[in-house]
Amino acid sequence: MRVDLHLHTYYSDGVYSPSQVVMKAKENGLDVISIVDHDTTDGLEEAIEVGKELGVEVIPGIELSSNINGTDIHILGYFINWRDEVFQTNLRVFKELRIQRAKRIVEKLNALDIPLEFESVIELTHSSSISRVHIANALVRFGYVSDFYEAFNKYLGVGCPAYEKNIELSPRRAIKLISEVGGLSFIAHPGRYLSENELAVLIELGIDGIEVIHPSHDDELVNYYRSIADEYFLLESGGSDFHGGLRRDEHCIGAYTVPYKFVETMKKRLNFK
Ligand code: AMP
Ligand code: MN
Ligand code: MN
Ligand code: MN
Repeated sequence: MRVDLHLHTYYSDGVYSPSQVVMKAKENGLDVISIVDHDTTDGLEEAIEVGKELGVEVIPGIELSSNINGTDIHILGYFINWRDEVFQTNLRVFKELRIQRAKRIVEKLNALDIPLEFESVIELTHSSSISRVHIANALVRFGYVSDFYEAFNKYLGVGCPAYEKNIELSPRRAIKLISEVGGLSFIAHPGRYLSENELAVLIELGIDGIEVIHPSHDDELVNYYRSIADEYFLLESGGSDFHGGLRRDEHCIGAYTVPYKFVETMKKRLNFK
């Protein structure tokens, strides 16, 4: 069984539709996947449908954007009852806040003599979760920067002149939102940014697991996070963080897989909840 639990679609900052992602998963020999778009579940229905046709199990997931003191902390949720009305109401608020933030970023760019229009950013995307990635793509498309990385390094990254903070959501609330819809919460790619102290805080808050397998984790980090998971009885997850683009660190779908046992253990844990 081949399992990749970290895939994005064009409903957040991925390139492909949910159907295309599931088809690619099938082509790459995957049996189980999870779609974890940033702050939206809009791709799940379609992915699950196509998954049934192709014989790929699609676990409903999400990657929530939270932060502590300005540090982004992504929280993955698996096996969520995403149709829940209260949950969807919260996601609609996040969607609106992201739109407002994108507008503020565009205003900052305009003040820097970059006449980008918000409408042209929107026209270029299917996304329900407008992010800096879409603005970066528009900046490239209209020739204001030469590539995606220049957009982040010059304008959109932390500390840059057009930077705007994302949704103000605490990890505590992100974990709660996920558990309220029956899901399991995981710290996404901790090796990318998380200090030991922040990791301890998240464990204290009752996170269910850690994403141990991720392109940003070398063997040493994988072993380190596995030992933490063992010590605190936490679950493990992992995947390729596939967006489908041409980013430097982009890996093909299924490049990072986890044992099916991870999924079985999650299901067992859910039965105890
Ligand atoms: P947002 O959720 O709007 O803050 O956008 C975050 C997304 O932008 C992440 O999921 C990454 O895919 C991408 N990203 C963030 N920082 C950088 C960076 N310095 N260089 C390239 N991509 C980045
Ligand atoms: Mn992303
Ligand atoms: Mn992430
Ligand atoms: Mn991701």
